[in-house]
Amino acid sequence: MQTKTDSVPNPLLGKWDTPFGSPPFDLIKTDHFKPAAEEAIRYASKEIEAVTSNPDPADFSNTIEALERAGETLGRIASVLFNLNSAETSKELQAVAQEVSPMLTRFSNDITLNEELFHRIKAVYDTRYNSGLSTEQLILLEKKYRSFILGGAGLAEEKRKRFREVSEELSQISLMFEENVLEETNAFELHLTDPSDLRGLPDGIIEMASAEATRKNRTGWVFTLHYPSYVPFMQYSEKRELREKMLKAYSSRSYRGNEHDNRELVIRIVNLRREIAQMLGFSNYAEMVLGDRMADSQAKVESFLDNLFISSHPAALRDFENIRKYALANGHNDRIERWDWAYFSEKLKKERFSIDDEMLKPYFNLTSVCNAIFSLAGKLYGLRFRKINDIPLYHAEVTAWEVYDADGKHLALLYTDFHPRPGKNGGAWMTCYREQRKDGAADIRPLVSIVTNFSRPTDTKPALLTFSELTTFLHEFGHALHAILSDCTYESISGTNVARDFVELPSQFMENWAYEKEWLDEWAVHYQTGERISADMIEKIKEASTFNEGYACDRQLGFGFLDMAWHTLTTPFEGDVRLFESEKMKRSDLFPQIDSSNMSCSFTHLFGGGYAAGYYGYKWAEVLDADAFGYFVEKGIFNREVALSFRKNILEKGGTDKPMNLYVRFRGREPSIDALLNRSGLIQ
Ligand SMILES: [Zn+2]
Repeated sequence: MQTKTDSVPNPLLGKWDTPFGSPPFDLIKTDHFKPAAEEAIRYASKEIEAVTSNPDPADFSNTIEALERAGETLGRIASVLFNLNSAETSKELQAVAQEVSPMLTRFSNDITLNEELFHRIKAVYDTRYNSGLSTEQLILLEKKYRSFILGGAGLAEEKRKRFREVSEELSQISLMFEENVLEETNAFELHLTDPSDLRGLPDGIIEMASAEATRKNRTGWVFTLHYPSYVPFMQYSEKRELREKMLKAYSSRSYRGNEHDNRELVIRIVNLRREIAQMLGFSNYAEMVLGDRMADSQAKVESFLDNLFISSHPAALRDFENIRKYALANGHNDRIERWDWAYFSEKLKKERFSIDDEMLKPYFNLTSVCNAIFSLAGKLYGLRFRKINDIPLYHAEVTAWEVYDADGKHLALLYTDFHPRPGKNGGAWMTCYREQRKDGAADIRPLVSIVTNFSRPTDTKPALLTFSELTTFLHEFGHALHAILSDCTYESISGTNVARDFVELPSQFMENWAYEKEWLDEWAVHYQTGERISADMIEKIKEASTFNEGYACDRQLGFGFLDMAWHTLTTPFEGDVRLFESEKMKRSDLFPQIDSSNMSCSFTHLFGGGYAAGYYGYKWAEVLDADAFGYFVEKGIFNREVALSFRKNILEKGGTDKPMNLYVRFRGREPSIDALLNRSGLIQ
């Protein structure tokens, strides 16, 4: 498939004649993406047309499998484009991504609204139980069918118009919601000119505030509501009245009665979401969203949140009492208000655990960490990693590794890209350039990538990781294992293509090793002296990780209650946002109410991003990973049998069965919250 007008072949379209069929990064130029995407869309449309014009009656193979295979080249191009746009971008590449993105959206909308295609899918779906389909095939079919249904494909013509209106308005006002919060976050500043107002703040924070002031042509210091400024200010400022001012500004964003107030938008969004869910035949929005989750009903999510709350609330009260007493003993003679919490917590934490990043970093040399994580995968699953040199890379700092199994079988190609660069997004992520699938007898192995922003080496020091960078590496590596070990037939349900509340199990699970003496003892030595990390330090890391966990858990649960309350409404909401919110959150709230505050109006996870009826997922994933790791602790953290079971039942299976079935096969029972309660120190 080549564009005919070009004399030079477009490398994105041809066969990739590289080791492991990896992207020919050395040949791909920014200009290649758009024409390649256009050509690939034309080709994919023909593939879809071939499905709909097939004279044979619809069956799994000629409809679902054919649809699954369609657009392979397009998918390959999109993954290179968007992965590069995150890891190694430029103004030009960003512009291309912005042009190609709507083309892809249009194409996928065309598919969802293709009536002939939907009729064929529905015909296969309606006869699914007497077609001799395997579990994996049934799941693929249900997933495809569901995506059409949620896209409005099953609606009668007269309802479709309203459906489109509501969908469009929802995407528009969710954006407005987020923009309002951003405006309000930017609108506030705390401008200080008296050095005594800086009492307690660390030098680095003061410097940042001074730079911010200079940027705004002011004297003195400017603090803002952005996290890097707001959080340390609340933790360290000794000026209570300034903390109060900051907190009140933060918690009243988009709730101040001005043009950026989100009250009306919250109501509009929950009402439209309810309307759309009910048009599609669900009783409320949560029921629609939860349909393909591990916690697949409102009742399951609510009882999960309730049960966890029963255990965490007493611990939260203990945490609160500890901080209250500590504050009292340190000269605070008033109630503990919201703006006192972070300040006294931080002080007490420091007193109790005298441990910080600078003390730990020398033990976490990136090269040793990388080797240690690879050999952990060897110990658990028998994997081996071999560095590969003769392969095209998108940047000189990227390393490519071949991953192979104990018996020498090739499993995957893994790219690691560790350090920050101007063209790289912040944060850390795992992604694929190709996902695992089977094509007849051929097992197409994945191309996996881990991208992070770890501290660089300097002239005098190797790259040394903070403890949280160590857990980040383990986390992303856990996602990578899910992709590397995948042994599924269909790409849309292979590797990490699993239910949203299941996908963080393999990643969070790996983080547990960072707290294990048995593992750290093997490799964590001081990069200069060679001295082993002390047992005392490991103990302190562990203890510090459970500090105020009861309180933190209560708070997360409160957000979960609020989320579920907004998204289980079955009739139009006409009440008061603030009253509704305080009613739903009051059982988890430990502080006196502040009249000017509101959470919903700035809760972008729920009303902007995609966490609606999904906030519970954070805690849900923690329960899973703690319970899974609990099994390892019980049998020995390097136990090969348990590891093999985790590999066979979870890591290899992607989304080929219901997550609960996969989990039960691994664990022998459903997950219990006890392991999390234990790990977080919530049980006394
Ligand atoms: Zn993750």
